[in-house]
Amino acid sequence: MHASRYNTLVENGIETLIYNSANGAFGVLGLQAQKAYAKPMSQDGIAVQLTEAGFLTELTDEEELAKVRSAFEEEAADTSTLDLCIAPTYACNYRCPYCYEQGHNAIGGVMGDDVIDAIYGFIEKRYIASPFVQMFVQWYGGDPSLALSSVEKLSQKLIAFCDNHEILYSAMMLSNCNLIDAFAVELLVRCHITEMFITVDGPEEVHNVRRVAADGSNSFQKQLEAARLCRQSGINVRANMNLDKVNLQYYPEIAAFLENELGIELTTTMLCDYGHFFGTREFKKPDFDLFTHEEYAHFNHDAFAKAGFTARQISEIFRPVRRFCRGQRHAYYVIDVRGDVYKCDGYIGEQDRVMFNIFDEPDESSLHAITFDATRDEKCSACSILPLCHGNCIWERRKTEMPCHPLKYTIEDYLRDWRSCYGACDDAFTLLAAPVKPARR
Ligand code: SF4
Ligand code: SF4
Repeated sequence: MHASRYNTLVENGIETLIYNSANGAFGVLGLQAQKAYAKPMSQDGIAVQLTEAGFLTELTDEEELAKVRSAFEEEAADTSTLDLCIAPTYACNYRCPYCYEQGHNAIGGVMGDDVIDAIYGFIEKRYIASPFVQMFVQWYGGDPSLALSSVEKLSQKLIAFCDNHEILYSAMMLSNCNLIDAFAVELLVRCHITEMFITVDGPEEVHNVRRVAADGSNSFQKQLEAARLCRQSGINVRANMNLDKVNLQYYPEIAAFLENELGIELTTTMLCDYGHFFGTREFKKPDFDLFTHEEYAHFNHDAFAKAGFTARQISEIFRPVRRFCRGQRHAYYVIDVRGDVYKCDGYIGEQDRVMFNIFDEPDESSLHAITFDATRDEKCSACSILPLCHGNCIWERRKTEMPCHPLKYTIEDYLRDWRSCYGACDDAFTLLAAPVKPARR
């Protein structure tokens, strides 16, 4: 009997906090329990409790890793949902200073009927090979609002296919919404698009210099009007703000505005220099000032702590997962306007990342590829929070040299926050959060 490789220990005064990333269990070791943990003996009552909670185990490190890998592989091979990310055009009507995809504008064009038919044929074959019960489509780009007729044509085919085979169909769109008027919203509803994902980078005067419409129109107002129309038609709207040290100050104001005016929650992600051109053109100080990954992780934690939290919220952050992203599933395909198929939406448009073309007959290894198996990566497989992370976004890690999951920098802070949700514990072992199964994403 020995300590699990997935334990994290944090000193907290005279007690020690203990968390296991493979099962999400969290507890407190009093002085007596610290001794029992350091030298476990099978007949000892505390050691038995620690074993039941997964903090002590009879499994070797390799066997523990094998369990995590097995759950990951089962999840990767699950074909019950066909997940598609479709870019019906690479064209975009915005010229955002930080956009790393501007080069794709030159590809242009909209998805033609031949590609639409080939996508449909591909889906029929996937269904014959492994019948799925759900289909999810994410409309992506460029900006898909510039190719709405292709969106409608392909949607109609997919919806009819799903209806005929009793498959649950759902779709969402990522768009700058500059062209989304009442007419377009009707089309979105016909296409069963139930969610629109927009980017709001600050109040109007800040947003409009970061999210720049090529035609000089007021991108903030146009987007807000589109969001209102979507909401009125029952399309849920999610908003995200690309945050740096400059627009950070506006977050509370714009988040409150969106919540109060439109009932839209504003999430944040760190603004990154994916294209490696920060400091040139308009993407430079003083209009932009980027966080490092470590700074941003601490900023996120501090904002979380300041807003107030519950033990339940923290237990969700610390719940193990079976994978990080959809790219770690066989049944996830990113398809562009030309019919090129990728495994990861981050790499869309990069010719050396194309797995096959939709007009080709792909081999099994292309069909079943995944972005990254962290359980077989030298660094990740040895990591104590592998079951919580699964390698994070491998595209982002490679593009920005982001070393790790944000919790690598902040896990001790969050575990102390979690502890603060409970009262005093005694000398022995107190289990504050029981083991759970890894969450499906
Ligand atoms: S690796 Fe990152 S960009 Fe690629 S599919 Fe996964 S989350 Fe998306
Ligand atoms: S990316 Fe970092 S935190 Fe995530 S599993 Fe790999 S080593 Fe661990």
